[in-house]
Amino acid sequence: MTYAAVTSEVVARLGTLVGEENLSTAQAVLDLHAHDQSFHAPHRGEVVVWPQTGEQVAEVLRLANSLLIPVTPWGVGTSLEGNPIPLHGGILLSLERMKRIIEVHADDFQVTVEPGIGHKDLNAHLARFGLFFAPDPGANASIGGMLANNAAGIRTVRYGASKDNVLQMRVALADGRLIRVGSRSVKQSAGYDLLHLFVGSEGTLGVITEATLKLHAVTEYMGAALAAFQTVADAVQAVVAIRGSGLDPAALEFIDAAHAAMLREAEGVNLTDHPTLFMEFHAAHTDALAMNLAMVQEICADLDAVHFHATTDAAERRKLWHARHASYEISVRQFPGKKLYLGDVSVPISAYPELIGYIEQVREECAVPLYLIGHAGDGNIHVEMPYETDAEYARCADINARIVRKAQDLNGTATGEHGVGLGKAKYMRYEHGEALDVMQAIKQTLDPNNILNPGKIFPHDIG
Ligand SMILES: Cc1cc2nc3c(=O)[nH]c(=O)nc-3n(C[C@H](O)[C@H](O)[C@H](O)COP(=O)(O)OP(=O)(O)OC[C@H]3O[C@@H](n4cnc5c(N)ncnc54)[C@H](O)[C@@H]3O)c2cc1C
Repeated sequence: MTYAAVTSEVVARLGTLVGEENLSTAQAVLDLHAHDQSFHAPHRGEVVVWPQTGEQVAEVLRLANSLLIPVTPWGVGTSLEGNPIPLHGGILLSLERMKRIIEVHADDFQVTVEPGIGHKDLNAHLARFGLFFAPDPGANASIGGMLANNAAGIRTVRYGASKDNVLQMRVALADGRLIRVGSRSVKQSAGYDLLHLFVGSEGTLGVITEATLKLHAVTEYMGAALAAFQTVADAVQAVVAIRGSGLDPAALEFIDAAHAAMLREAEGVNLTDHPTLFMEFHAAHTDALAMNLAMVQEICADLDAVHFHATTDAAERRKLWHARHASYEISVRQFPGKKLYLGDVSVPISAYPELIGYIEQVREECAVPLYLIGHAGDGNIHVEMPYETDAEYARCADINARIVRKAQDLNGTATGEHGVGLGKAKYMRYEHGEALDVMQAIKQTLDPNNILNPGKIFPHDIG
């Protein structure tokens, strides 16, 4: 596909649609929107546009489609797989100025928002209603970016990913139509599930301009637990045992011994140099919480935990999770001058020990620095590999490819939560087979000129 350039005439026409104060061609602004938080190389768009309404989004798309100009939606750019990088230039469509909370439907446990609001900002507002939006990636990602990536996070093991916490969306299509998908009913059975077609589509099928989200009541009683094990294998067995016990952790995270040391040094949390599980439990009654914590302690002791600590102190619990959330930045800081190659595979929980065993075997064979951290409770693991030179990068990519193949062969996936973006496109054919052709047919129907976030998801598209 040959795209048209964003000429000064196009900029002027965009200015009439969104207002001149809502666009920029300044190099510094383009640079700011040329990269996400991943190791993928940056690429600049030609103009950044900040629409204020869904109608403006639709008008920008209609114009871009008629002129064959690519459009890459942008939440706040915290992706980890190159998802919002404007690979083919064109219009960088930032939803950052559409961040209104339209309505809290407290009695229905729902809220309707614009896409640019950060999930942390949303939860700060919802606290007064005793409600919260559960999916929680570490960064203050936008709701639109989370839905577009189907982001998950530490609470997914209990409350689900973004896809499980959305009921209805308004979506602007490439040709400028503005449609509503889904309904505010929790049960929905009327026709094709277009809502979930757009969730996880990474801005390649349409732009989310409004979303009604499911909320949960903030639980009265919360406790956290740390369990350290002699070996990674023991820790991973404990994950499977805890999931199999009927306990319903609100978070069940795994960090390796290196991460435990990093978090202790950087955040002052009380961790030993062992593979460690971070857990959280929510309960409606203090006795139920105490029983959960006692039961998880017993399971960990049976599996030879070398250290166990539980707390119901809110400040201590928050400190632990703050440290866990900061782990990516802490890892990055550990290796000045290097980048972090980050993997994100996920498998059914019964296959988790085999996957982790395989990764450890690969690490020994390849003798590379490789660190493990992940949302273990839902079978997800992130592999972090620092690199500096092209040769080191190639080695990391090769190791990641082996791990992805193993996860796919275990009935898992190349990406549990970061999305396909740039880095995972090459694995899509093996994972989806002929279903990838169906995905392409859907893309062709909704975006025949391939203007929406081109170069993502589909392998041949990589420029
Ligand atoms: C420290 C750190 C920790 C993280 N932890 C997690 C984690 O635990 N779990 C997890 O899932 N992710 C995690 N992430 C990744 C990231 O936060 C998520 O992928 C998040 O969903 C990105 O949201 P964003 O607002 O930054 O979107 P962006 O990165 O700006 O965009 C994401 C994608 O969505 C598209 N898009 C954005 N807005 C819209 C819209 N309104 N309509 C249509 N398409 C749109 C973009 O084109 C792009 O393809 C982490 C990132 C960091 C930096």
